[in-house]
Amino acid sequence: MKKIAVITSGGDAPGMNAAIRSVVRRGLANGLTVYGFNRGYQGMIEMDYSEMNGGSVAGIIQRGGTILRTARSEEFKTKAGRQKAVDNFNELGIEGLIVIGGDGSMIGAENLSKNCGIKTVVIPATIDNDMTGTEYTIGFDTAVNNILEAINKIRDTAGSHQRVAIVEVMGRYSGQLALMSGLCSGSEVLIVPEVPWCIEEVCDTLKASHKKGKLYSIVLVAEGAAKGIDLGEQIEQRTGIEANVTVLGYLQRGGSPSAIDNIMGTRMGAHGVDELLRGEGNVLVGVRGGKMESIPYYKAKEMKHELDLQLYGLAMNLSR
Ligand code: ADP
Repeated sequence: MKKIAVITSGGDAPGMNAAIRSVVRRGLANGLTVYGFNRGYQGMIEMDYSEMNGGSVAGIIQRGGTILRTARSEEFKTKAGRQKAVDNFNELGIEGLIVIGGDGSMIGAENLSKNCGIKTVVIPATIDNDMTGTEYTIGFDTAVNNILEAINKIRDTAGSHQRVAIVEVMGRYSGQLALMSGLCSGSEVLIVPEVPWCIEEVCDTLKASHKKGKLYSIVLVAEGAAKGIDLGEQIEQRTGIEANVTVLGYLQRGGSPSAIDNIMGTRMGAHGVDELLRGEGNVLVGVRGGKMESIPYYKAKEMKHELDLQLYGLAMNLSR
């Protein structure tokens, strides 16, 4: 293999730049030509690319987001769209592709490998840490740190006014982000999609806390379980305690990546290039027990990435 390409696809995640840097420099160090395509699969269809050199990735490791930008490409989901991308790759002589992205991006990569003969490797990146086949996805640690910082600030005001503070965090259908943020911030109530809950119980907990003289309570809710705004209204109606709602949104995704995300991005990027150099493809770079593993897509999709219910129990146990 002489020429490879790299894209970032789907939702952006802090640490993607470290992965791009690692792919480019590992590739160059091994004599490969490395192309960076902009805006994910859409850039591959539109031939929106540049040849990368060591300088193209200088000074990016500390930046959030992705220098290659990202996109959701409907056209790539069609056979005709994928064919355009493949024709462009053939014209340039590109044989391998590193895709830095989430679940959807992995399906796109699998499709390309299976039907179009291009070797692909996926580096898992999403702040939600909800991908199957890996215990870790790039961006998660930065997001947890961002949430912790926000909760610490919200706490100051909630405590001064004896209020309930409701903080809604991302995660799509997963409670991973909420669980880890709840554990490290000491939130009183943690609502996640994986654990059944009811408003009566939440309100009883808050009333009991208030009665005990607790100055404030933090309710952390994953977006896949409930809307913070609805929760706030119900809590006020049922308990009479004033509730303030903060939806953290993109604040969770932005800013400089944490040390962990840069380390993981760097390790995963290099591992991905090594796989292509070995002639391997059609694999997700997964982490299991702290080690990098290459997992075929079909296997990765079968594996589960379930919420650690023991950790959830611990968080709830310590919040009383
Ligand atoms: P993420 O990778 O963060 O999960 P998306 O689900 O939006 O984000 O997927 C990113 C891109 O991957 C899509 O815009 C599309 O180009 C590609 N993709 C997703 N699903 C498919 C599919 N079934 N076939 C081909 N490409 C797909």
